[in-house]
Amino acid sequence: MKDFASDYYEQKEIWKRKHPSELELNRILQTINLIPAGVESILDVGCGDGVITNRLAKIFPRVVGVDLSASALKQVKAETVRAGADRLPFSDNSFDLVLLSEVIEHLPVSIYENCLREGARVAKEYIVVTVPYREYLLQRFVRCPSCFCTYHRYRHVRSFDLEDLVDLFPGFRVVRTEFLGGKTERPYKWEVFIRQNLAGHYNPWPLAVCPQCGQKGTEKFKRGLLSWLLAIIGRIIPRKKTYHWIGAVYRKVKQVGKEDGEQIGSI
Ligand SMILES: [Zn+2]
Repeated sequence: MKDFASDYYEQKEIWKRKHPSELELNRILQTINLIPAGVESILDVGCGDGVITNRLAKIFPRVVGVDLSASALKQVKAETVRAGADRLPFSDNSFDLVLLSEVIEHLPVSIYENCLREGARVAKEYIVVTVPYREYLLQRFVRCPSCFCTYHRYRHVRSFDLEDLVDLFPGFRVVRTEFLGGKTERPYKWEVFIRQNLAGHYNPWPLAVCPQCGQKGTEKFKRGLLSWLLAIIGRIIPRKKTYHWIGAVYRKVKQVGKEDGEQIGSI
């Protein structure tokens, strides 16, 4: 089914970012720190504009960025291949490490399983994954002004808790997990519910592309009394702070008798 994904990801404006925020920069540097010693070749799947790839290319002997968006790949200053995460044009075990940073939360079910299988096939030794931690997806929902369907502004379709990360890849086990980026405030679910369903306020996002009808942009919104009240209440009631992202390192499971006794990290 057409979901207008390329209409979204090919927009140049998405990739014309200024410098990453402090939170993002922390996450990027911590992601690079997750890469185990001894790794020489990295396949950065869903590399986007190369915000991590370009940094990796300065450190590791071989770095290849893969993405479907031609517009994103133009920003990458390393070897690139235009391909989907579910069909990686590489032979088995061709990279020491496969990186999936801020990728798998975007993948619809038709691509998700194949992406995990492909990552495990191409990775010789390690896989590193980073995702938003326990993201409350509804919080970032926008509404299409044409068909009124609601969807995540960045096209995230799944949310991950620690246990969701354990058995992702066939033949690999988790050897390390780490919270990334620092803590951020989360609105209460009741707050989001009232804002969207009673005040009818979905956040605007001009670059959003409706996955159902392809309409670009979102509804214009004027604050009513209820949404003003919610904004005030939101400032008065302290919100919980939670880690923004989580990262996991996976290592290929070796045959019995060949284990090297690596320790399993903990949070
Ligand atoms: Zn629509």
